[in-house]
Amino acid sequence: MAKILLVDDSKLIIEFGKSILSTEGHKVSHAPNGHEALEMMSAEKPDLILLDVVMPGMDGYEVCKRLKAEKQTHDIPVIMLTSKDETADKIKGLNIGAVDYVTKPFDAGELVARVNTQLRVKELHEALQERNRQLQELANKDGLTNLYNHRYLQEQLLKEIDRAKRYNLSLSFLLFDIDHFKHFNDTYGHQTGDVILKTLGNILNKTFRENDMAARYGGEEFAVILIHTDLGTARETAERLRKTVEAYRFEVDQNHFQITISLGVACFPHETISTAKDLVEYADKALYKAKRAGRNRVEVYMPE
Ligand code: GH3
Ligand code: MG
Ligand code: MG
Repeated sequence: MAKILLVDDSKLIIEFGKSILSTEGHKVSHAPNGHEALEMMSAEKPDLILLDVVMPGMDGYEVCKRLKAEKQTHDIPVIMLTSKDETADKIKGLNIGAVDYVTKPFDAGELVARVNTQLRVKELHEALQERNRQLQELANKDGLTNLYNHRYLQEQLLKEIDRAKRYNLSLSFLLFDIDHFKHFNDTYGHQTGDVILKTLGNILNKTFRENDMAARYGGEEFAVILIHTDLGTARETAERLRKTVEAYRFEVDQNHFQITISLGVACFPHETISTAKDLVEYADKALYKAKRAGRNRVEVYMPE
């Protein structure tokens, strides 16, 4: 069942069209002119529009143009209803974005066939768009942790730096790394290590939602973009995360494990931080400092 809007100034056509399409199981609403049709769009959200060409006031071409110009109605298939059998009219409709036309007086079988064909095309188009969206999402994610991957993080960081510059906002970046993870792998096996990484991914996905973006930066290194966040808040966030991980009991095959992480924090704007590259570089320096200072701690980038 689809929602179809029939726009025609002829009561006869409305009645005839309604009875044919209702029999097919479609829900049909109608408008007697272009203005009313356009006003109905946001409330009705039709799947397809049957649009008469010759109407008093605004003609069908103008209505079609306006539908195609609006983002909300752009993708709704429009079938023009034309009483004239002139090729020029049909071509004109198709040129301004109609997907098909039906000549009046229409044959019930033809109307149904053309409507159903266009509904099917629309359905396939939507399925394809959804599939593309899913593929895009997959391409941006890391398979093991289900966090965003390195490439996507870099892309987002460039965008966020631009935005922070444009609107004068602060932007913080956390870079962290599991402590002595090589030893962990050597002791408990690489597969157990993988479960730890995966679980850490879950923790990050739960901790950072909506605006902030957590990513797997590489091997056992992770990063978080904290938008609209100053250095003080970023440091607190990092410290909270450090404590969460330290306290977390990771479970693998009914065995429990604990790990710690070291974190580096950097924030834009800062006299020496003006690009995404700077932000990563200084978060990395701070992380290195945290490692050197004994691990399981947060360090903030401070210029010498
Ligand atoms: P540090 O505290 O200095 O960070 O010590 P570390 O041992 O964690 O650091 P190092 O860089 O020497 O070793 C990183 C380890 O992380 C070695 C590598 O096997 C492990 N690792 C990286 N990626 C993965 C992965 O996908 N799965 C598993 N299980 N281990 C990984
Ligand atoms: Mg490590
Ligand atoms: Mg490492």
